[in-house]
Amino acid sequence: MAYAPPRPERGMPPIRINLYSDTQTRPTVAMREAMRGAEVGDEQHGNDPTVHRLCDRVGALLGKEAAMFLPSGTMCNVIAILTHCRSGEEVIAHRTSHILTSEGGAHAAFSGVQILGLPGERGLFTAEAVRAAIRPRTRYAPAQRLLEVEQTANIGGGTVWPLMQLEEVTAVARSEGWATHMDGARLMNASVASGIAAKDMAASFDSVWIDFTKGLGAPLGAVLAGSAQFVDEAWRWKQRLGGGMRQAGICAAACIHALDHHIGRLADDHRNAKILARGLRQLPGVAVEEPETNLVFFDPAGAGRTAAELIQRMRLQGVHLSLSGQRVRACTHLDVMEAMIEEALAGIRRELDTR
Ligand SMILES: *Cc1c(COP(=O)(O)O)cnc(C)c1O
Repeated sequence: MAYAPPRPERGMPPIRINLYSDTQTRPTVAMREAMRGAEVGDEQHGNDPTVHRLCDRVGALLGKEAAMFLPSGTMCNVIAILTHCRSGEEVIAHRTSHILTSEGGAHAAFSGVQILGLPGERGLFTAEAVRAAIRPRTRYAPAQRLLEVEQTANIGGGTVWPLMQLEEVTAVARSEGWATHMDGARLMNASVASGIAAKDMAASFDSVWIDFTKGLGAPLGAVLAGSAQFVDEAWRWKQRLGGGMRQAGICAAACIHALDHHIGRLADDHRNAKILARGLRQLPGVAVEEPETNLVFFDPAGAGRTAAELIQRMRLQGVHLSLSGQRVRACTHLDVMEAMIEEALAGIRRELDTR
């Protein structure tokens, strides 16, 4: 077993260009300044003014009555599913969804739910696929309780759910009496890329959260929003899981700074992703998926190197990429400048030419 993350390997060159993930952004100087001046209180006693300010801002942004500050997006999903579901029930989600692939079996462990993974192109599924997944209401079938959607769909390629498709799939859920939950880790990327307000995308969902540690660039934190009753019940789970915090305003201040300064600039990340994809497409044998937001997936196998080989060789050049199945994932964010994209492309070209 090797569950603990490895320490940085000795002898590895420093990372100069970090395309590994938007989670690896560093708080900017201005963000650190905002944290330094934050007014704070005891968050789990409800008297941290900066946390309240953040929750009010996110509630308004997402068009929900109430919101709750949590350490991570994973905890938002865990608490939302605990609040919506009971043990033995079923959650319907895409088969590549983060809740199914990347949360350590949390929902089986804590909520006792099973997750039904739907097929569908690029991390999206259709209303027809949801309808086809409806089980008979017999004593044999698990009771279906919750539909979950990821905006943007991460493993799907950072793809944006069209508003109409969100409304179609949630309409099926509503007609079945299921609750609806949006994993909005990169909802602001979807909103900036499509020009559709986050609250419109979240309107047909009972609960929704956004992550502050992805493209928004904060050191930690995510905010889960929903009705006042949902958030009230969610507080019980937050407390049980040890998610109640103390002077959390120092972190909430970073998130407020991100709301003020880091949303519009996501368009720069999307543009850089397109520049990267365009450059990769010029390399013979490299299969590139057209990016919709800040994630670029490509497969260099046709150019003589597997994804894993290319990632390893690029790391030796100080360029950090990640592996997703058989593909390379490159992620643009606020620490990646256009010049770095050009440099990474030149490096990739060299690695594929040297064979
Ligand atoms: C990153 C991510 C999460 C988990 O968020 P953390 O803040 O890293 O816990 C959940 N869902 C999706 C789609 C993500 O990309």
